[in-house]
Amino acid sequence: MIRKTTMSDPIEAIKKFAKDLSPEAKIFYPGSAGYEHSVSSYYWVSSEQNPLLVFQPAVAQDITMFFKLLAGHQKLSFAIKGGGHIAPPGFSSTTGLLVDMALFRQVNYHADTQTVDIGPGRLWQDVYKLLPPDRTVAGASSCAGVGVAGFNLGGGYSNKTNQFGLAIDNIQSIDVVVPSGEVLKVCEISNEDLFWALKGGGNNFGIVTNWTMITQAQGPIYSQTYQYTLDQSVKVVDAIINYSTNVDPLSNIETYWEWTVDNGKLTPIITAECFYDRLTPPTEVFQEFEAIPHTTPTPAFDNWLDRMAALPGNRQSHRLGWGAEVVDDLPPFRGRFSCVMLSGFKKELIAATLAVFGPLSIDFISHGGVQMYPDFWPFNPSLFDNSKDCAWPHVKGSPNTPLVLNFKWQGEENDAYWVPMIEKITSQLTAAAIELGCAVADAPVYYNLAADGVAVASIYQGNLDKLSSIRQKWDSTKVMDRTGGFRIP
Ligand SMILES: Cc1cc2nc3c(=O)[nH]c(=O)nc-3n(C[C@H](O)[C@H](O)[C@H](O)COP(=O)(O)OP(=O)(O)OC[C@H]3O[C@@H](n4cnc5c(N)ncnc54)[C@H](O)[C@@H]3O)c2cc1C
Repeated sequence: MIRKTTMSDPIEAIKKFAKDLSPEAKIFYPGSAGYEHSVSSYYWVSSEQNPLLVFQPAVAQDITMFFKLLAGHQKLSFAIKGGGHIAPPGFSSTTGLLVDMALFRQVNYHADTQTVDIGPGRLWQDVYKLLPPDRTVAGASSCAGVGVAGFNLGGGYSNKTNQFGLAIDNIQSIDVVVPSGEVLKVCEISNEDLFWALKGGGNNFGIVTNWTMITQAQGPIYSQTYQYTLDQSVKVVDAIINYSTNVDPLSNIETYWEWTVDNGKLTPIITAECFYDRLTPPTEVFQEFEAIPHTTPTPAFDNWLDRMAALPGNRQSHRLGWGAEVVDDLPPFRGRFSCVMLSGFKKELIAATLAVFGPLSIDFISHGGVQMYPDFWPFNPSLFDNSKDCAWPHVKGSPNTPLVLNFKWQGEENDAYWVPMIEKITSQLTAAAIELGCAVADAPVYYNLAADGVAVASIYQGNLDKLSSIRQKWDSTKVMDRTGGFRIP
């Protein structure tokens, strides 16, 4: 059957709209190489969808034209894609129009202000390579392949958080195109309500084209990764608990119990990533981790860039276009993150978490399992001392950090097993954490690691009403309701 096209047909309208775009903007239709690359470069296979087309704006005015197109076609849905790492399907993918921000690739360092302009088409890995070697920014650092865009819109925990807070605490100004089509630069003294809302408010307020971020000096570092067999669990738990009283802001550890399917066999391994933001940490900081019998899967690093390139979990080159020289850790997978928000750590909480994961391994392979892990990431109680008031509540004196739960599997049919299971485990562990005094009730859930079913009120808590009124002001016709994400009413 020949598809009927009329003036109101979105494809026809898009063809017209394409003529008004800047010469550098691109539109890719199904079957083209550009389309295939864009729709397949997601971290999770479960995020892939087949959009009507892929639109790559090159300048802010292209996005203005896009919002005009949407205004004339109320049924058009869309998605905005940065680095393609967010887990819930449909948050940066769509069967409508995919706005791929890949052409916003600026990483421009300003020596006079020591700030850097970063485009939403960049992954953190690129940003670090393009900054002067003695400067850095508090962006993703435990997993550099993550996109700047989602990270900066949701919060941004990193190895630098003990020193500099979240990524959203390090943003000086934001360039955004709001649904009316207006192009704005927002900061603390200009459209400050929108600036406040965009720091943690996700994709509720428009399409961001640039973040100007504060940079910090970067010197040599200490980075060591230890791996342990499962029989060392008790000792590693002790080491985490002893470390969790750490108050040295230069140090950070991430420790995870990882079950991976390798040649049809489930292999458990415990990993501790130890980071110190100077070449030589004080002896006592990591000595307990070092003393447990271990292997070291990667060499120790003394510089930031090498560490970024080599950390486990970074390597998904086939999906992110990093080139054949990068070896992938895992075959392509579906999956989800979830998180339990913690105010502190106790042995009993780690034990309760491991007691949940252990039995899961029995059914893991039969449900398409590829890898699963709980990730214990203790931050200092002072982690929010430099926090700035913004959309996502993170307040001095109220530590709130994610216990990260990660599940990867293959086969769409296995979604029905894993998605409800993840929600059940998250509720169970949240209740346990509150009972054990490791979490407070109603702690704001972290947008970027939340499972699909999380209520938006759980993310924004007391800030939700203010966010709703800001949204009403800047998106009164609810254009952003036509894209996926945790939607502020
Ligand atoms: C391997 C891995 C490691 C991670 N490690 C960390 C970590 O250490 N710390 C941490 O805090 N988080 C971490 N995360 C979570 C990460 O912060 C989120 O997944 C984040 O959303 C990824 O951003 P992205 O640009 O890659 O994602 P995308 O999927 O492209 O986008 C995420 C959301 O942002 C929206 N968006 C994208 N670009 C724009 C734009 N220009 N304007 C408006 N909206 C836009 C999208 O519509 C989508 O809803 C990790 C995730 C993965 C997969």
